[in-house]
Amino acid sequence: MPRTTTPPKAPAKPKAEPRAKTIAQAAASAVADDERRRAREAAAKATPTSSALFPDETPAAIGSAIGAWWDTAGPLPVPRRSIKCPFCGGAAYPRAWSIYRLTEHRAEYRHRLAWRCDVSIKCHTCAAVWAHGLAITEAQAAQFGANTTALHAASYDWRQARDRLAGYLER
Ligand SMILES: [Zn+2]
Repeated sequence: MPRTTTPPKAPAKPKAEPRAKTIAQAAASAVADDERRRAREAAAKATPTSSALFPDETPAAIGSAIGAWWDTAGPLPVPRRSIKCPFCGGAAYPRAWSIYRLTEHRAEYRHRLAWRCDVSIKCHTCAAVWAHGLAITEAQAAQFGANTTALHAASYDWRQARDRLAGYLER
């Protein structure tokens, strides 16, 4: 059986020379670069406004935003979708729930959403941990197991949460 031989490679075509910029093009490009740099610097120096940094949402808007991401109808909030780690893209899972009331001196919160449920998420690939802080009503805090009369917080690790959610998730 005759052995096939690889034909010799054709010589690579010489690459086209980049077109030399004219002096006018180079100058225009330098001016555009300078304008972009100045715009970046101006944006970095701009003083952020209070309303941009601290948007004051209504409880209804907050509830609606949370509801899009979180199912809060059960015994604990659970994410409505699978969560990917923002650092490595790995799969991440809720690992701890902490329900607590905002401190007494913030009286202005009493008529709004005075309770929080912080849900910690952990990436199973790179071990990053972060929290989502859900603003919740007092009724929801009670639904998630906090003793709202005594202002007692509640917290659950993932095993406790799994037990608590078993009847809800497997319904
Ligand atoms: Zn990760």
